[in-house]
Parts: sequence; C-alpha cells; structure tokens
Amino acid sequence: MLKKDEGAVLRSGKSGTSSRIVTLLGRRSGKIRLLAKGAAKKDSPFRGALEPGAVIEAVYYYKDGRDVYFLKEASLLAPATAGSGTLQSAASLLAALELVDQITYAGNPEPKVSELIESYLEIGESADSLLLFLAFETKLLDALGALPEFGTCSACGREAWGGRYDPVNGISFCASERSAPAETIPLSEPVGRLLRDAAARTFSEFARLSAEEGARKTFGLLLHWTYTYHVQGYRLPNALKLLK
Ligand SMILES: [Zn+2]
Repeated sequence: MLKKDEGAVLRSGKSGTSSRIVTLLGRRSGKIRLLAKGAAKKDSPFRGALEPGAVIEAVYYYKDGRDVYFLKEASLLAPATAGSGTLQSAASLLAALELVDQITYAGNPEPKVSELIESYLEIGESADSLLLFLAFETKLLDALGALPEFGTCSACGREAWGGRYDPVNGISFCASERSAPAETIPLSEPVGRLLRDAAARTFSEFARLSAEEGARKTFGLLLHWTYTYHVQGYRLPNALKLLK
C-alpha cells in the first residue's frame, strides 16, 4: 500500500553502490527510514530531494520482512539550505537535524517537533548561528514538554534570576536560598533574558539578537546539562564542534 507524508530529511547516507537510505521526520508518520533505490546515480529523479535539511513530500511503500520503507517518489517542498550559507549557519542547521534524530523514535509522530525543525530550516543567515541553535534547543525542550521553569525559585516561588539552576533536578533557586545543591549553574539576568526571548520569540525575531559571550556560554551550558539529565537519547551534536 502506498503512503504519503511530508517532512524534513534528518539524515541521508549511501546504501550499497547506487542507493541511498534516508531518515525522514514525517509530519504524520513520525521518524521513518526510506530506501531510495538508484538515488546515488547521476540521472536519479530523487537528486536534490534527499539532502539533510530538505523538506519533501514522500510517497513510499512497505515490503514484508524489511525494517525500512521504499521511497517511490520524492518532491522538494523546500531545498536544503545547509550547503548554501556560511560554515557557521550550516553547522547550526546540521546540529539541529542531528539533535532531532537523537530524540525522536520510529512509530511516535511528534507534530510539534516536525513544525519546529521545519521552521528552523527556513531561517537563512543569522547574526549568531550558535545563539540561534540555542534558541532551537530551548523551543525543542518546550515542544517535548521538558522545559524547566528556569525563572521561578523552587523553594519560595519568587523570581530566580540572579540565583542558581540545578540541572540534575531541573529546578532553580533564588539568590537568597541556602538549600541549593553544590552543582549548580548561575542564572544571571542576561541569561534569563536569553531564555525568555528564545521561548517567546520566533526564529526570525531571535536571529536579529546578539548576546554577550559569557551569557551565551552559560545559556549553552544550562541547555546542554538539561538535555543530558532530562532528554533520553541526547548527546552533544557532532556538528557543534564546527561552531567553536
Ligand atoms: Zn527562593
């Protein structure tokens, strides 16, 4: 039976000498692996549609006894932009694709995650590609229902900016709290502003912002450790190494 879905290509690799195997985040079907026979050949009709970061409409089918689907047709809805910008913006896009691949599972569609990665892929250049990636991580936590209440003290309920964040438990403490555990990350007001902007603004609004180096670094650390403790499958994306 033929199926049809739209979504972002998260990953694409060779299979044998002439085919490609593609990981697609389908809007309705969730993460699926598609074998595109003959896609590595020069005259393949799939050419250009299977690059990581492309958004495509895929027609595919299943064969008994195989754990992959077979791609029949692919039409490009939005081309992959990772190859066209600076190394920084390419790395930021590839890191987001890698992250989504890590935290999504076959048979479990996540419409909010699909919408988020597709809107992230629409952004071209930004003032600070790493900062924009951190906004993506913030919104992804929100889409997964795992965004901690960074700004509220878990002990007294008052504002926690100026206090500390405990990534192990995903809770914050205001500056006057003495019960905070030893392993915490400082929650300065500039970091608070970045977190609020990342959660509330669109990617194109956020792409115009810049951040002071120290605040950006803390913002990144805070997200990295939140993912490490609270999001299954997460590890630091390899593409981020290009952003250093
Ligand atoms: Zn407090």
